[in-house]
Amino acid sequence: MGAIRSGKREEWVSAAERLVCESADHVECPECKSPGLQVRDVEYGWGTRKGVERYLICSNCGAYNAVTMRHAGPLAETSLMAAE
Ligand SMILES: [Zn+2]
Repeated sequence: MGAIRSGKREEWVSAAERLVCESADHVECPECKSPGLQVRDVEYGWGTRKGVERYLICSNCGAYNAVTMRHAGPLAETSLMAAE
């Protein structure tokens, strides 16, 4: 194993958001600041409660975190702010 669950929650959330539209080569690991995050999306729930849990794992330092995504986008209301 050797993976460390990172406590830098907000930085992982923003990394997960960036990975929606950017290649993993351009998004740095919040822990070691190197690109190399591996992404795995796992669907959960059903019907209108369906969503995606996005697992991010750093291939450099082994840190990982899971961020809950909705199909419409991340839980953070970034789309509303962008419409401003
Ligand atoms: Zn790392």
